[in-house]
Amino acid sequence: MMTSGILYIVATPIGNLADMTFRAVQVLQTVDLIAAEDTRHSRPLLQHYGIQTPSLSLHAHNEQQRSQELLEKLQQGQKIGLISDAGTPLISDPGFYLVEKARAAGHKVVPIPGVSAVITALSAAGLPTDKFSFEGFLPAKAGARQKRLTELQQEIRTLVFYEAPHRITDLIDDMLLVYGNERYGVIARELTKQFETIQGGSLIELRSWLQADSNQQRGEFVVLIKGCEPLQNESQHEAHEVLKILLAELPVKQAVSLAVKLTGAKKNELYQWALSHISTP
Ligand code: SAM
Repeated sequence: MMTSGILYIVATPIGNLADMTFRAVQVLQTVDLIAAEDTRHSRPLLQHYGIQTPSLSLHAHNEQQRSQELLEKLQQGQKIGLISDAGTPLISDPGFYLVEKARAAGHKVVPIPGVSAVITALSAAGLPTDKFSFEGFLPAKAGARQKRLTELQQEIRTLVFYEAPHRITDLIDDMLLVYGNERYGVIARELTKQFETIQGGSLIELRSWLQADSNQQRGEFVVLIKGCEPLQNESQHEAHEVLKILLAELPVKQAVSLAVKLTGAKKNELYQWALSHISTP
């Protein structure tokens, strides 16, 4: 009879070591092998909980090749725990390829749930949580980032983004450009850590807040944006329909300027929308 291994997907803390679950410790102590995004990074956590299980790396640059090795081990009946540097593996972290292949090969994949920054931020941001859209990291280049933000312009669900410290001010600037000064957002910074800060306000207030204290630009960020109001959504939809017709006949600048006059919509928003909807040859 063929033996089948078990792949455990184990969530680890996002900053506060005490957020490790009992079950996560038990599983990592008893599996045959831990596949870690960065073995050196995970060492202090594993040591803290007396976990001496051998580990190897599985990261964005070796995921496919390493997964083949791990699949062979699963085939031999081994138990493997997958962890990432922080939070839940596969959530803006490696592991998708391995989980997909492990399931396809008929191996048991067992989630060991715990922290994820997206849920941690949502739980305390004071924005609607019944429906939300997790967008992870936006593209690094300004043009592509603004295009994606524009595509999400009419989304009525709460939007959740991950961002790195060196891009946080650029992200808020782009959100201001596309969503306007008044859209409400929350910046959740350094969650579960010493300098945890959860700051809400209009986008223009959030930009001033970031600029006023460079310490607030440090660390790890989740940015949450209130969904588009359904009423605003409707009038925006109308403005886009008008713009679409004008764009078929006129250059972008002229079409946008006319659409602003006809609909009263915001020029920046219409301009961004036009750029992301005209087909480039
Ligand atoms: N797998 C992780 C999870 O479940 O949340 C996410 C990994 S992703 C590579 C790292 C990003 O998650 C950071 O750049 C930041 O946007 C967000 N993040 C992770 N830890 C955080 C924290 N303590 N506070 C705020 N954001 C955090």
